[in-house]
Amino acid sequence: MKIPFAPQSAEQRSRPWRWLVPVLLVLLFLAVLIWLPWQARQMESNERQEQLIADTLWVEQTLRFELARSEEALVALGADLVVQPPAPAVLQMRMAQMAKNGPELMRVVWYDADGKVMAIHGSDLPARGLAEATLNAAEVARATRRGRYSEPYGATQASHGMIDFYLPLYDRGEFAGSLVASYSLQVLLDETVPWWFAQDNALSLIDGDDRVVAQRAAGGPGRGVYTHRRELDLPGALMVLSTDSVKSAPNLLPNLLVGSVIVLALGLVLSLGALWRHISRTLAAESALRQQMAFRTAMENSLLTGLRARDLEGRVTYVNRAFCQIVGLPPEEVVGMKPPMPYWAPEAMADYEERFRGVLSGNVTPQFETVFQRSDGARVPVLVFEAPLVDVYGKQTGWMSSILDITDRKRVEELNRQQEEKLQASARLATMGEISSMLAHELNQPLAAISSYTAGALNMLDRASQSGEEVKPALLRHALEQARQQAQRAGKIIRSVHEFVKKREPERQEVTIRSVIDGVRALIELQTRQAGVVLQVQLPPDLPPVLADRVLLEQVLLNLTRNAIEAMHDTRPYDRILRIACERKDGQVSVSVIDRGHGIPPEVAERLFSPFFSTKAEGMGMGLSICRTAIEFHGGTLTHAPNPSGGTIFTFSLPEQAATPALG
Ligand code: ADP
Repeated sequence: MKIPFAPQSAEQRSRPWRWLVPVLLVLLFLAVLIWLPWQARQMESNERQEQLIADTLWVEQTLRFELARSEEALVALGADLVVQPPAPAVLQMRMAQMAKNGPELMRVVWYDADGKVMAIHGSDLPARGLAEATLNAAEVARATRRGRYSEPYGATQASHGMIDFYLPLYDRGEFAGSLVASYSLQVLLDETVPWWFAQDNALSLIDGDDRVVAQRAAGGPGRGVYTHRRELDLPGALMVLSTDSVKSAPNLLPNLLVGSVIVLALGLVLSLGALWRHISRTLAAESALRQQMAFRTAMENSLLTGLRARDLEGRVTYVNRAFCQIVGLPPEEVVGMKPPMPYWAPEAMADYEERFRGVLSGNVTPQFETVFQRSDGARVPVLVFEAPLVDVYGKQTGWMSSILDITDRKRVEELNRQQEEKLQASARLATMGEISSMLAHELNQPLAAISSYTAGALNMLDRASQSGEEVKPALLRHALEQARQQAQRAGKIIRSVHEFVKKREPERQEVTIRSVIDGVRALIELQTRQAGVVLQVQLPPDLPPVLADRVLLEQVLLNLTRNAIEAMHDTRPYDRILRIACERKDGQVSVSVIDRGHGIPPEVAERLFSPFFSTKAEGMGMGLSICRTAIEFHGGTLTHAPNPSGGTIFTFSLPEQAATPALG
């Protein structure tokens, strides 16, 4: 598990800047959202205005086309009147045709050169003659010799305005009369402008003094929002076509749009706020988690105990630094691996596989010692503790092991063991030293006996050679046999001493208590004889063997008996009995050394097994301490109790060696 952690990483420091970009983007988005409907409204407004202008131009063209058509008909009629005036009836017919083609044409009058009315069609002439505007136009027309329109006239509250076209007629350059056509501007508007245009727009014709001379508003009055004015380009007449759309500024759609934009924007801001809060909380949690992880990683890395996690299939999912150091492998060579593991030592393969079967079946050994193999081949003794790995829902997901490298502990244990051995050997030597005078005395006897037997034999031979008597082979044989026996006895004592003190490795084997007692019996008897003590040995025949080191047990027995004999120093001679009683009880074989000595007072009992504690002037105080260590080394116990008949009972018990035939 790798946890990237830096207390204040560059990433964290740049966090405010990272926020700025989305915030700016959101603000930009909002601005665009608000600007869009406004822009749409503006575009629509422009479109309407442009449409109105185009329509107005079209209407102006139509009006002018209508008037131009009428103008052409008048010019043609005028030309005919000058060259060959038609019959009055024909003239009337042509005029009627003209009025029919253009309903706005209200009247046509033909004047001769003197101003006399030659023919008239349409409404009657007003009593006061031509309007002043017409007369003004006639003056200019005659001067320029071209037809000309008058200013609009006659517009009042009740009636709409009129416009006249004055066409002077010339016969070979001579003024020959005139044609005056009067148009109703209202009819012009009504007839020429199509209904759909009038429905959408209020139209009016305005004269030079800004007076309305004709108007049409089928769809109601204009709103004054979209308007356009276009001058009608008629020679002599100043007239403006004004259009005013009945449409107001577009608003319903933008309102809806703006409303939804505002609601959306508010929603967006609110959700952004919520998101911000959520992310802040997540970031805070993440930061806390990082701290925790960093703390945990630091803790794990500082541990000397190896940690290893495995899933339920036995695949390694995690190892810490200490584990990698123990096995001498990088994490990537261990994590993800399934048994056999690279750190398994070949000689212990069967053990590992046995334990791994346990892991798969869900029952692991909670604590055990084993050996791992480092990558360099060295063996590492380890102590492994296994515990189930449980997830947040309480479900077991695998196993967590902690692994202790116990190389040092093992070394110390080995050192202790060697020290202990040395101490035991020294103690044995000391014991021998203490009983050396007895030993010398004991050896002296067989040696003296050998000496006297061999001397006797020699004497026998000398006498025989001097006297010439025959040597009695039976006598000589007896003496030599006795000498041999004594030599064997001395050899046995020397051997037992040698066996006892020689330096050796402790070695466990099946031993019987009988053989242990026999091993040291000569040395014990040596002391009992000296001290005037009677030795009694009680040995049941069915005593099973124990798994132990024979010399250590002999040392214990020799120590206990020596202490017992010494304790009986002041006991009355007939009470000086040393009993060695053995029994089998609860799967244990126990040996009691029972004396009738001075017993152990409580203050001595407290420190009995402490090294170097002795109540004796020349005592070393190591005997009982070594005895207890030796017995516990064999998985047994050493206890003491007062003897009911006076004295002390020291008892050591060892587990019996089951299911093996008793050795004897
Ligand atoms: P040492 O014999 O050199 O003193 P031990 O460790 O063998 O050292 O004994 C320690 C002490 O325990 C002895 O000095 C003695 O006082 C006491 N002790 C041992 N065995 C007996 C016993 N059988 N009866 C009374 N006292 C004993």
